[in-house]
Amino acid sequence: MNFDALGLSAPILRAVKDAGYTEPTPIQRDAIPPAAKGRDVLGCAQTGTGKTAAFSLPLLQRVDALATDDPCVRALVVTPTRELAAQIGESLTTYGKHLEDLWHTVIFGGVNEKPQIAELKKGVDVIVATPGRLLDLMNRGFVVLDKIDVFVLDEADRMLDMGFLPDVKRIVAKLPKKRQTLFFSATMPPEIRQLAESMLHDPVSVAVAPVSSTAERIEQHLYFVDKTNKRALLAEVLAEDSLERALVFSRTKHGANRIAQFLEKRGVSSAAIHGNKSQGARTRALDGFKSGSVRVLVATDIAARGIDVDGVSHVINFDLPNVPETYVHRIGRTARAGASGIALSFCDTEEREYLVDIERLIGRHLARIDEHGFVASQPAPPMTDLESRSKGGGQRPGGGKKKSSRRGGGRGRRGGRPRRAS
Ligand code: AMP
Repeated sequence: MNFDALGLSAPILRAVKDAGYTEPTPIQRDAIPPAAKGRDVLGCAQTGTGKTAAFSLPLLQRVDALATDDPCVRALVVTPTRELAAQIGESLTTYGKHLEDLWHTVIFGGVNEKPQIAELKKGVDVIVATPGRLLDLMNRGFVVLDKIDVFVLDEADRMLDMGFLPDVKRIVAKLPKKRQTLFFSATMPPEIRQLAESMLHDPVSVAVAPVSSTAERIEQHLYFVDKTNKRALLAEVLAEDSLERALVFSRTKHGANRIAQFLEKRGVSSAAIHGNKSQGARTRALDGFKSGSVRVLVATDIAARGIDVDGVSHVINFDLPNVPETYVHRIGRTARAGASGIALSFCDTEEREYLVDIERLIGRHLARIDEHGFVASQPAPPMTDLESRSKGGGQRPGGGKKKSSRRGGGRGRRGGRPRRAS
């Protein structure tokens, strides 16, 4: 099946194609057609399954169809963490890039509220928010939600774990009764099922297998290393002949460039791909990687979206991701089409908290490599309990990097403001 059969409009299909997606994921295949027709959806799916596009594409289509000169918030996405909020904001920019004059903004706590309020005052069509800050801004009159047509509740079970359910209920109480609701949760404990029943009208239920299960086929190793020694360790592991074609993940664009330059100096054929590279440079790098002339491709998470290369023997996490599902998604690049693969992860002292989250998500410990040339100066931490999950409020350890709010759009229904760089 391809995307054309899902009932999406031409500008959205074009953006999906630009993102490099060729086939919808199961959750997209099942959720988009009813959502595009305006039905409520109850989706049982984790991050990493493509659920963001599953709700973002129909949401954008509907908001675009309803656009008027009346500046009001038409759609609201509520999600538990600032990282998820920022990622959803980026997805809306990606998928909404060919929609004229459609604006969105991202709101989360832990950062200065003033830029967020300034964005809201300019008028936005879509808000992506974490519950606490949203409620605060609603209570102070900066956000009015009485014209919402589409409401998305993302990661409802994590909201419960983090103690956000009362806030979510307060937000929902302020929404118009007549609206479309798309409700997503990885699991359905009784409280969440009850909440879903109270919010959804004749929903279509869709469910997909948890993403963590894809990690089972992959051999996963872990190196504790000091940050300053990561590049040297990378050169050491790349000296192995068994490493035919490696995809190396870097958290930043700058980091990706530096790694690729370092490897080239060492005589390892490599290339970096990230958002600052031209489309031509990205295509050349990918073609080289596919043909085998480039042995190591260094990528950021966003640039790696849509990369579909068979025969990646190793995925190397030069930096550990702070969103655990991203780990699963990254390592899935090495086990395409039922093949097995190897994932190596480098963990410095600051990343040890991320490791805890990752191991809890996948329900197993990564195999520690104790003997290598660059063992960390601080002793390795004890293995963590895989069962316990953190309760209570707050963000994930380490937080996310600050993101400015984003918008897509252009023609200027509201005064021709320039499109924001994304
Ligand atoms: P999500 O579960 O929404 O966090 O998505 C996980 C990752 O899958 C993101 O990096 C998306 O860009 C990517 N993705 C989503 N849909 C598709 C698709 N149909 N084809 C390829 N990649 C996709």
